[in-house]
Amino acid sequence: MKVITTPREMQALVITWKGEGLKVGLVPTMGWFHEGHLSLMRKAREVADRVVVSLFVNPMQFAPTEDLDNYPHDLERDRKLAEAEGVDVLYAPEPADMYPAEFKTSVHVSGLTTGLCGASRPGHFDGVTTVVAKLFNQTLPHIAVFGEKDFQQLAVIRQMVRDLDFPIEIIGHAIVREQSGLAMSSRNTYLKEDEMEAAHSLAKAIVQAQHLVGQNKNLSPDQIKEEVTGIILSYPQCTIDYVEILDRSSLQPCERISSESVLVLAVKINQRIRLIDNSTLVGN
Ligand code: AMP
Repeated sequence: MKVITTPREMQALVITWKGEGLKVGLVPTMGWFHEGHLSLMRKAREVADRVVVSLFVNPMQFAPTEDLDNYPHDLERDRKLAEAEGVDVLYAPEPADMYPAEFKTSVHVSGLTTGLCGASRPGHFDGVTTVVAKLFNQTLPHIAVFGEKDFQQLAVIRQMVRDLDFPIEIIGHAIVREQSGLAMSSRNTYLKEDEMEAAHSLAKAIVQAQHLVGQNKNLSPDQIKEEVTGIILSYPQCTIDYVEILDRSSLQPCERISSESVLVLAVKINQRIRLIDNSTLVGN
């Protein structure tokens, strides 16, 4: 596995691959790999001839008050994990190469970015779409794999790809969870032992919501949201950023629960750690 750090070298290699008729897959990440990231790499390995995993902790998607400086980082650890998955290139560009002093462009997707995470993290999605557009141009992939864990992000990226005519197939990959149900996240490393139980409230609330819908499909979204909110707030360390039941494509609130409905959650643990999770409510 090669480690590449400059956009120019990355692009040159992909152009060579493409000249050989090889199919290229990209997995964009911010590193500190866990099984969720590794499953995305395996998916890319399955569908592409060459796999590039990008590792870039993107300053543009963090607000000044957020955890950019503390975000877990260990290139050597991640290099070994990616290599073991048969990744061809770990692409780890430097911030100065991604955003040189004269950088002036931002990619903005409207509508889908205003609610949910966009409401509590202003500017976050402009950072995401700008960096992903750059990564697409630097790695020129045929396919790119993203996790459904970042549900709104996936919808926003699909929209950007359609709107800007990127010739890239976007593949969404199911959430990988700990045995306990907790959705894997690099940010889980911030959780102290006594915060773990509170962190599990998200998955616990999802399971209860699915159970209730399984028993009675006529329950309203508000009734389910009330139940979910009650479970989460029964842990004093938890505050709710949002609990919503949305249509999976439009991200608009649903009037009735159906197979298109997704329960999306964002919860802060001790005001320090913001966790997100989501799930459909009706078995497919
Ligand atoms: P991150 O490094 O957190 O920016 O995530 C990189 C990619 O991995 C994104 O597409 C995430 O949605 C995806 N991802 C993160 N956690 C998980 C998980 N638990 N299961 C599946 N995909 C995930």
